Amino acid sequence: MSSISKDLVLFNELVDVLINEEEQHPVADRIDADKLYDTVDLSLNSNPIIDEDLKNVLKEVLATTPKTATNLFFNQLFGGRQGKAVLGDLLAVMLNNSMYTYKVAGPQVGIEQEIIRQSCNLIGYGSQSNGTFPTGGSMSNYMALVMARDAKDPDCRLNGMSKPLVVYTSKESHYSNAKNASFAGIGRNNIRYIPAYKEGRMLASKLEEQIIQDIADGFIPTYVNCTAGTTVLGAFDPINELADITEKYGIWLHVDGAYSGSVIFSEKYKHLVAGIERSNSFSYNAHKMLGTPMTCSIILVNDKKQLHDSFSNDAEYLYQTDGDDFNLGKTSFQCGRRNDALKFWTLWKSVGTQGLEKIVDQQFDLADEAREYVSNHPDYTLYSYEDSISICFNYKNIDPAALCTALYEHQITVVGFGAFQEETFVRLVTINANNEKVDILNFFKVMEEFVETAPQLPQMKELAAQS
Ligand SMILES: *Cc1c(COP(=O)(O)O)cnc(C)c1O
Repeated sequence: MSSISKDLVLFNELVDVLINEEEQHPVADRIDADKLYDTVDLSLNSNPIIDEDLKNVLKEVLATTPKTATNLFFNQLFGGRQGKAVLGDLLAVMLNNSMYTYKVAGPQVGIEQEIIRQSCNLIGYGSQSNGTFPTGGSMSNYMALVMARDAKDPDCRLNGMSKPLVVYTSKESHYSNAKNASFAGIGRNNIRYIPAYKEGRMLASKLEEQIIQDIADGFIPTYVNCTAGTTVLGAFDPINELADITEKYGIWLHVDGAYSGSVIFSEKYKHLVAGIERSNSFSYNAHKMLGTPMTCSIILVNDKKQLHDSFSNDAEYLYQTDGDDFNLGKTSFQCGRRNDALKFWTLWKSVGTQGLEKIVDQQFDLADEAREYVSNHPDYTLYSYEDSISICFNYKNIDPAALCTALYEHQITVVGFGAFQEETFVRLVTINANNEKVDILNFFKVMEEFVETAPQLPQMKELAAQS
């Protein structure tokens, strides 16, 4: 047997170990961070080790690595596992192409372009649209910002920033906006954070007020980042209202759908991004709602010329054949680029667009179940709203940070907490479409049982003070 074939036999054996582990211990054996190096042998040494020893250490690493695909992981904006997407990603590893040229990627170029074309059609972008697969949602936001900057001030590509550009986003938007403003030379102090309504959606009227003020002060409004699925509440900014403003003032509108932009696949929920065809760019993460392996982020651009203007560079050593439409390196940030398209394509190909719709709808069904449970039980307070897959709540006035940490340290379930305006709460995310309603009810059950038996958990400060 060839060496790679032997390694793949070992791989299959280890995958069986992992799947068995996930069934036995849906929350992994946790190692205290300060004991990590004493507990597992992670050392690298000058001597090789035999496969049997390698296998044993890998088994230990598998058992102690946090399990993100199980029915007790609710911590982040991803979870679960779509088998056909895993298959595609494993094949991408075996093929090991780089997506910059047709010469090196061949049909993989068509696979990526087909996803982009179909996605553009779904959101109503026209024949001039295109896109690319950045490293993630943060990079998608960055690429959108750079295109906006270059559209407003084309000269800055050659001479650097000289104009007083300002950009806008909601207070509830993703933190990458702040970093990106600094990377793009715009500066963190030149982001205007627009307040949100109580449901977490950006207030369009406040945006316009701020723009008028900035113009009066001599600034140049350049970019509005609108969120489809805010990080904490899962809220959708009102795209049509924002587009009325960006069109009026000639500002780039980007819709950051990293979290919940995949609603474009659902007849029932795509109204949440109504007006999306009016945006200049839109991004979504298939590794969030659609359950592909990390990372799989897609940015679509309404006018592909702008993608080209900002990201192309001639390189004779690289682009020697086949033409720009097939040499995707002409519109990407990186040079060498991992194939993130194949895993999404194998999933989409196997379940069809209707299957993707089911994956999305299932998460909203699970969210309804969770919200109903929280609303119907007097020991709970609900903070989030309908049409979101983030269910934010507190239980028995227990301090949410202490509760989430205790649940994690005792390996009960993995869930996080968040804050909106004055409130802090537990944030349950129903993003794992492999889950059923019983899994959601089981989450509440294990949490309540834990609280019953746990040592005294602190009460929320404010409420404790009031009572
Ligand atoms: C997750 C997320 C991002 C960042 O995406 P990464 O792929 O983690 O870089 C950006 N915006 C929103 C709204 C997100 O939820």
